[in-house]
Formats: sequence, C-alpha cells, structure tokens
Amino acid sequence: MLYIGKYIQVGRYKNGGVFGIGSKQALLSEPNEFENLVKIASLWKTPADEDSVLEKARILHPEISESEIIKCISFLVKNNCVMEYEHFKGDDRYSRNSLYYNYMGANSKDVENKIANSSVTIIGCGGIGNHLSYLLATSGVGKITLVDNDEIELSNLTRQVLFTEDDVGKRKTEVLKRELLKRRNDITIEIIEKSINSEDDLKSIPKSDIFIISADHPFELINWVNNYCVNYSQPYINVGYINDISVVGPFFIPNITSCFKCTDVAPDYLKEDALSHFIRNINNDFKAATFPGVNGVAASYAFGDIIKFLGGFSDVLSKNKRIGIHSSTIKIEEQLMPKNPRCTVCSHQ
Ligand SMILES: [Zn+2]
Repeated sequence: MLYIGKYIQVGRYKNGGVFGIGSKQALLSEPNEFENLVKIASLWKTPADEDSVLEKARILHPEISESEIIKCISFLVKNNCVMEYEHFKGDDRYSRNSLYYNYMGANSKDVENKIANSSVTIIGCGGIGNHLSYLLATSGVGKITLVDNDEIELSNLTRQVLFTEDDVGKRKTEVLKRELLKRRNDITIEIIEKSINSEDDLKSIPKSDIFIISADHPFELINWVNNYCVNYSQPYINVGYINDISVVGPFFIPNITSCFKCTDVAPDYLKEDALSHFIRNINNDFKAATFPGVNGVAASYAFGDIIKFLGGFSDVLSKNKRIGIHSSTIKIEEQLMPKNPRCTVCSHQ
C-alpha cells in the first residue's frame, strides 16, 4: 500500500504551482495540470494501490479526464512522490533517515537492513573520525572498529566534538567508544589501539565493508592503504582536508573503480634526490591548518557516499575522483582519477 510521501509539499507558484520540494521538485506552469495533480495526490493521503486511486478519482473527480488521471498517477509513482505506508513510524529512531532513502527512490526497509548488517573501520579518530563515527553509529551501522593510538589533547576540542575537557589525556578510541555507546547501546564497537606505520600494520586490522581513512599522518598512509586495499579487495574511502579544502575521495571499490595510484594527483614527499634534505627540512614540522568547519564538511559529504554504498542505493559520488570543497570560496573542485590500465598498483588485479 502506497501513500503520498511525507516529504511532499506543494504550493502555488505564478499561474501554476510547484509539486514537491528539493532537487526533485516539479514546476508546473499550466494551472490545470497543477490543480489535477494536487487533487489526485490528495486522494493518496489515504493508503491505497494505484488501481484504487484510479477508481476513487473517477468517482470523486469527474471533471478530470481518464487520461489525465492516469498521467497524474504515473507522475506520482515515477517521481518517488509515493512511498510504502508502513515505512514511516514517526517515533522510530531512523524515521527521518528513512524518509531521505524513500525520497532518493530507494526502499527504506532494504536500505536500513543493509546498514544494520554492515561494518565499518575508521582509521583515525580525530575530527573526521569523531564526526563520521557519530553519524554512522546514529544512522544504524551494525559495527564500527576504531583504530587510533593517540591521546586526547586540549587543542583537539575545537573539532573533535565528542571529547570533553575531562577527557584530555585519555585514549581517543576508548572515549569515542564510550560516547558512541551512549548514543546507541545496541551497536558493536571494537577498538584497536595502534598507529599505522607501514603497509604491514594494516594486515592486523580485520576486513570490513569499508575502511575510512581519516588520519592525516603519516604522509605515506594513503599509499599504504591503497596498496593494501587493492591487494586484499578491501573497499576504502579517503576523507580529509588539505589545509582550507575539505577532501573526499577517492572511493575505492575493488574491480570497479580506479585506485589512488591510477592518476598522479599528489606530490611525492619522500623521493630521495639532491633536494631531499631541504624538502624534509621544510616538511618535518608540518601541522595542518585544521579548521572545524572544513573538517565537518569533509565528514558530512563523505557520510553521504558511505551510507549510499552500505545501503546499496543511489550513486557514490566520490568514486574515480577526489573532490575538494573550498572553504574560502563557494567552489567544488573535482580531480578526475580515471581507471588506468597501466596503473602500477591495480592493473594486475
Ligand atoms: Zn590503480
């Protein structure tokens, strides 16, 4: 049984009207077209199948022709304006997410089941790890593994939103686990207190549906993760920031997407040559100009892709590319990273 999606709003606009809001809104400039659609949609406030709505419309709206009624019904179905009646329970903790899945044209129950059975591994429990672990836990992910070896410092509190002054000096993984369990007591949280200092270190981390790379050091981390994930068919997403730019991607899906090494997008910080000494001299004390908003934007943007991947709906936006969202201007930059048949890392897979 279907009924009009909770997320539908209609309003008069100029001579006609706007049906629905958001990216899927339809502007109807013909007054009749808009009025007919509103009348037929209104019948669907009561749960019914398509045939019953057609039947009801014939009786209650003799002024609308049969072909117009059919056109309206098909418009409503095709544009995700109707949803399954039992898919919305206002007091369910996931009910608002569920409306979003329906709005995107997915079956929210299927999506929620997939998410509940999924596991994610967050490598790096700083600003991005805080945001993402919170978003994923409260959205119903079944299991989260937190990987980090750092202790909380006072300078973390600007953006590592789940830590408090009392937590300074404590392990990031332990405090994050405590805070996530307060928000959802039926989630499984594993902690691995470990710094990743080589590709080999990744082998001791159990595989999961996705590795989230949210640690900003060491420089080589993304390369180790990329090698490891390509070799062991482990999906991953890179999330971070380059000073004032939020960075999302690439999103690596084994045998489907390109990998980080398919295209050269990052400088080599470790190449040994005559200049190495000077380069190291500048880089060895590097501290990113981390800013809370930049962090939060990267995490929120990545969250959308991670949930789509785990829930199996809509399209992952950061695959085969690295997306940069600039905080100093309203600009979104895409570095395309197409699959390279001669890639030194993934071409042998
Ligand atoms: Zn590659």
